[in-house]
Amino acid sequence: MGKRALAAVLAALLLTGCAVRQVPAEKTVFCMDTVMELHVWGKDGQAACGAMEDALLEMDRTWNASSDASALAAFQAGEPVSQEVQDVLARAQALKERTGGAFDPQLYRLTEAWGFFSGDYRVPTPAEIQAALVDPVYDLGGVIKGYAGGKLVALLSEMEVDRAVLNLGGNVQTYGEKPGGEPWQIALQDPRGEGQNLVVSVKGTMAVVTSGDYQRYFELDGVRYHHIMDPWTGYPADAGLASVTVICADGMTADALSTALFVLGLEKGTALWRASEDFEAVFILTDGQVYATQGVALSGGKYQVISH
Ligand code: ADP
Ligand code: MG
Repeated sequence: MGKRALAAVLAALLLTGCAVRQVPAEKTVFCMDTVMELHVWGKDGQAACGAMEDALLEMDRTWNASSDASALAAFQAGEPVSQEVQDVLARAQALKERTGGAFDPQLYRLTEAWGFFSGDYRVPTPAEIQAALVDPVYDLGGVIKGYAGGKLVALLSEMEVDRAVLNLGGNVQTYGEKPGGEPWQIALQDPRGEGQNLVVSVKGTMAVVTSGDYQRYFELDGVRYHHIMDPWTGYPADAGLASVTVICADGMTADALSTALFVLGLEKGTALWRASEDFEAVFILTDGQVYATQGVALSGGKYQVISH
């Protein structure tokens, strides 16, 4: 082979090598009542996808509030549970406190009364709502995907993985740096499908978690009843928001805060942000207006900046 041909073959090999390394390993997992998409770059990509699937299915069994076989049900029944389960429940209670009760991990009865577990949607009577509110039963639906994101990050950090992006049913968890230090670009779903194309940029390992009134809801007589409950009224939260996205280094915190800010609304949510230093947020109002706290790198549409 002539020198020139050899060089061409080498160049081709190099190119292929690069191309192979840049294709992520991918996996779709159905769990926690949603579809999850895992994309992992690096030597252990395939193995990491398998390990993450196992971990997700295990977490689904542990935290399923509707299953008598879950560790959560065991805890609720006063049976012994692992230290990890106790720790997560303690963290959930701390997040309830931090949000003044807007995030409440013990609203199982309420969500059940509205039919969101069974899919038999209905508007409960005021008496049923009152009964549900005074019977605290754990449901970690408001944080578990965020918690899962954090747990998967820990798993990835022990493998030969360059970077990953995990879409856990609307909760996005990034891991690692993109080549050249480019930010991850995460498109925010337009709550009303009216052509908003907002994109959040984040660097490194970060949770970008959205709570919205369009993810799970039913309509009756022209009224939309969605799945995020106001713990004070027992009705779906009605604080003028269509969605809230929280950007935070910790997945579980991001998830609890997204649910809480959705309940609190723009004004009280802004007050919580001002009193905090660990998260940023994007609020999309039911009338389409967008507000973002000053640390958010947002593009693709008009918005107002919330400053300190
Ligand atoms: P999603 O699970 O759709 O991503 P959220 O993180 O906001 O959205 O969680 C909503 C889920 O959390 C509900 O389906 C229910 O299981 C539970 N939940 C509803 N209202 C609250 C609340 N005020 N605090 C904590 N959990 C809640
Ligand atoms: Mg949440």
